[in-house]
Amino acid sequence: MLRLITDFDGPIMDVSERYYRVYLFCLNRVKRPDQEIRVLSKSEFWQLKRSRMLEKDIGRLCGFEEQQAQEFSRLRRQYVHSLPNLVHDHPVEGAREALERIEQTNLDLVVLTMRRCRELEIPLKRHNLEKFFPPSQRYCIADDYQITRDIQDKPKLMAKALAELPPAAEVWMVGDTEADIVAAKNYGIKVISVLSGIRDHARLAPYRPHYIVNTLQEAVEVILEQSLLEQLTINN
Ligand SMILES: [Mg+2]
Repeated sequence: MLRLITDFDGPIMDVSERYYRVYLFCLNRVKRPDQEIRVLSKSEFWQLKRSRMLEKDIGRLCGFEEQQAQEFSRLRRQYVHSLPNLVHDHPVEGAREALERIEQTNLDLVVLTMRRCRELEIPLKRHNLEKFFPPSQRYCIADDYQITRDIQDKPKLMAKALAELPPAAEVWMVGDTEADIVAAKNYGIKVISVLSGIRDHARLAPYRPHYIVNTLQEAVEVILEQSLLEQLTINN
């Protein structure tokens, strides 16, 4: 069996609109009424997020003093993952087509995300993506679990998935951040980074994923091609 474990935010969901709206909201909450600040455009903001600029530094860049920048960063943490804000997320262009393509193949599709389970179920339902991920194929964070850090929690969730899922001859992981690469490499899994998410090429390359491609669609093509090549090699 050939298995694809995909991250949710980045390969499938575009969270940039949510992040930008929360940025604008926090900016307005923190700025003094008379204070002149610099408001980034969405593309400027998203470019900074993709280059992994810290929230506090984004605050400073917009003209906040040290204490304001800290408050800005704290507020942002509080609001960015709040349930009502998730309505601003939408599927990445081509993601549905990629999932449909997977459906036509023998790939065993699993989603593994640092979202809490209810934060995964709601958008799956809203965007009619449920059918691609039966409950046994979903790995998310229990609604009552205290999240520590993405880069530590992701490998833990990966361990759980690998222990529970039926064995597969080959496993691939697709994700958009360094956390995905680290999690996959911890378990000797081949990993493809996509650029449709919250990191740019320069941020991902040092972690040396097996491939860096633009979208989940492209990642699926790489996996199918590679598995075909492998079969040919075995048969010959
Ligand atoms: Mg992600």
